[in-house]
Amino acid sequence: MGRAAAIRIEAVSKTFDTAAVLQDLTLDIRAGELLALLGPSGSGKTTLLRIIAGLDKPDAGRIIFGEDDATHLPVQQRAVGFVFQHYALFKHMTVADNIAYGLNARKRSERPPVTEIKRRVGNLLDLIKLSGFADRYPSQLSGGQRQRIALARALAVEPQVLLLDEPFGALDAQVRKELRRWLREIHERTGQTTIFVTHDQDEALELSDRVAVLGRGRLEQVGTPDEVQERPASATVLKFLGDTI
Ligand code: ADP
Repeated sequence: MGRAAAIRIEAVSKTFDTAAVLQDLTLDIRAGELLALLGPSGSGKTTLLRIIAGLDKPDAGRIIFGEDDATHLPVQQRAVGFVFQHYALFKHMTVADNIAYGLNARKRSERPPVTEIKRRVGNLLDLIKLSGFADRYPSQLSGGQRQRIALARALAVEPQVLLLDEPFGALDAQVRKELRRWLREIHERTGQTTIFVTHDQDEALELSDRVAVLGRGRLEQVGTPDEVQERPASATVLKFLGDTI
């Protein structure tokens, strides 16, 4: 509690064609927290994540990173890392080169020295418990291992915020469960500010420090998993969480 906002979403609205997808949405993400963005399919979660990333522009409102207004910054100039459900690794690159991709893609003047990149990749492989996999290719890995590499690739650039959009959605239930626990562990070790999009109530409640519940483009409630379960703020939250309780 009381920690500074890492990211501020301020009165953001977005309309596609005539459909209001996000409506006057305000939400602070605190430095170091893992916030789950939970809501049924079509509630606007991915759109909000894309706006935070700079892949989409809001029609109204602002996105603030720390003290800086990032609303008009393109994605390349925002310090964000992503993992999407189907954001595949580069097939022709080794695991090490995949993890180093974001660093190698920087302008020469901003690129760390090769030895530093190697050191960082080694540390990340340790963190995700895949040391020894540096020279393998994605085709030699399981789906769960690939998503762990994708996470290491996103962390390599030391983002201000890590954006995860249903990253385990394509995996089977058992692997998904293991990866949830694993992600929680990684989060505790790194303290990386993270937004995790999911439509799975159990996943959100188990993983996160706080849950933000979206319904039809509006923020219905934000609170700890206990708070939203014990004191749902609206009928929408009650109904949505009630589906599994
Ligand atoms: P969620 O991630 O919660 O499933 P989305 O943000 O993907 O929700 O979508 C919210 C709504 O916005 C949906 O009705 C979807 O059809 C619509 N939408 C999303 N992206 C576009 C787009 N590029 N053009 C038109 N409609 C879109």
